Amino acid sequence: MSGRTHAGACPERTCVGCRERAAKSELLRIVAIKDACVPDPRGTLPGRGAYVHPVPVCLDQAVRRRAFTRALRAQGALDTNALRGYVERTTVAEQATR
Ligand SMILES: [Zn+2]
Repeated sequence: MSGRTHAGACPERTCVGCRERAAKSELLRIVAIKDACVPDPRGTLPGRGAYVHPVPVCLDQAVRRRAFTRALRAQGALDTNALRGYVERTTVAEQATR
């Protein structure tokens, strides 16, 4: 941490899991495609996005309170299995490099 703050230069988003604000780059963008939550790590997919920390804890909280369904304005329940698999792989990969 450098202690420098650039207001506006570093966009913040709210994690739909823990509800904490974080730099956009620290969060994983999620979009709904058909009736499934799809991870969009490069932020290139069109449509509404929801942001969550790419960790199982935040994902669990978001799923439990149906935050994705609400944030993405989905009609019904969203399938989060693919998203969960992605987050678990990402978390394991990050831990392996530390
Ligand atoms: Zn979070």
